[in-house]
Amino acid sequence: MTLNNIDLFPHNTSINSSGNLTIDNLDINALADEFGTPLYVYDEATIRSIAKEYKNMFQNLYPDTKVAYASKAFMSLSMAKIAKEEKLSLDVVSGGEVSIAAKSGFPTSEMYFHGNNKTPQELSEAIDSGVGTIVVDGFHELRLLNQIAKDKNVVQEIMLRLSPSVDAHTHGHTTTGILDVKFGFSIETGESSQAIDESLNSSNLDLKGIHFHLGSPIFELEPYSTAIDTVLDYLKPFIEKGLNLREFSPGGGFAIGYVSHEPPPPISAYAETITSMLIKKCDDLNIPTPTLIIEPGRSIVGRAGVAIYTVGVIKDIPNVRTYVSVDGGMGDNIRPALYGSKYEAVVVNKMTNQSRETITLAGKYCESGDLLIKDISLPPVESGDRIAIPASGAYCLSMSSTYNMNPRPAVVMINQGTARLIRRRETYEDLMSLDLV
Ligand SMILES: *Cc1c(COP(=O)(O)O)cnc(C)c1O
Repeated sequence: MTLNNIDLFPHNTSINSSGNLTIDNLDINALADEFGTPLYVYDEATIRSIAKEYKNMFQNLYPDTKVAYASKAFMSLSMAKIAKEEKLSLDVVSGGEVSIAAKSGFPTSEMYFHGNNKTPQELSEAIDSGVGTIVVDGFHELRLLNQIAKDKNVVQEIMLRLSPSVDAHTHGHTTTGILDVKFGFSIETGESSQAIDESLNSSNLDLKGIHFHLGSPIFELEPYSTAIDTVLDYLKPFIEKGLNLREFSPGGGFAIGYVSHEPPPPISAYAETITSMLIKKCDDLNIPTPTLIIEPGRSIVGRAGVAIYTVGVIKDIPNVRTYVSVDGGMGDNIRPALYGSKYEAVVVNKMTNQSRETITLAGKYCESGDLLIKDISLPPVESGDRIAIPASGAYCLSMSSTYNMNPRPAVVMINQGTARLIRRRETYEDLMSLDLV
């Protein structure tokens, strides 16, 4: 028996003789019994092998590539440790992310600090903790950072985030490279030229590179090549005038499979597209080849994570719809409600059952829009069954909330046939631990 949507699951997913879903030979139904639900299960081997694949694919074509894991996709002490052991760099977007990564021993010098509105406190802390690169996003930040660095008597390495007016054709909430976005210095308006000139004249900033990020998830390759082409053409005169382009980043945004009929391009295709255009342009423009920084977040952890729920109430509205409610929902995965994201699911304890019924998978939160999957075809579902949603490793837990005062899920890491808790389930005590009366 095999899964027809196996490509959405962690690498070593299978089905055992009881007809239950397994990862690395561990029975997921048994894990749900042991750790409770909702439960997020990550497979460490999948994370590590995808991280290695990014490094190998890019470095084979362009040896001077750094892979920076975008930690907002999923961050924890154990994830930061894996990123460190795999010798990744790290994209961080807040003082909190810097702090967690640093606590786990991740070297601050290998961090790239992004964000469109870093606070003075975050900038000051970043310099104090030795964050290697700050990716400056606006004029206010540029001036503030130069002043803070001057006060501390240091020179801070920076990159500038440019907005190249390239549409990556993803959801309006997650497209970030067009003109009308809050991120970056626009090339189209001339803002970016002023930002480069001003950076080069800032006494306590060392402008070492240029960054852009087009959005996410990007299923097409062409936006990357168009943007690299456009941005390097644009940078040529600045390089002639003294911009020393040591680093260049076309961001992240690499897609993963959420549903079987929309497979992502292989990592090798992104690598081929990005590196070939970069090499060609540097050659055409006769400029030195910079260090290439790529910033995958979703694609490092997305496939490695699976969400496990238990079915509770089933409401059948004859000739309309059957709502199957599970014990999680928009509190642990806001993506369907926020972006209309599509997912597939399986019934963990009925993997060999061939019958099919169409149901709608609902969450337990007090919103009609709290639907995880509309109209999915599954084996007949009963209360107590376990549902697994694959491709849940990125932007689920990291965007989770305690809405309705539901405690956030426990997280388990599977590695070499054993499962260990890497984040305990939130408790009622946790929910009130910040309150003062
Ligand atoms: C979010 C983000 C990324 C990662 O995007 P993914 O889709 O998770 O790969 C990379 N770079 C920047 C600047 C980001 O904001």
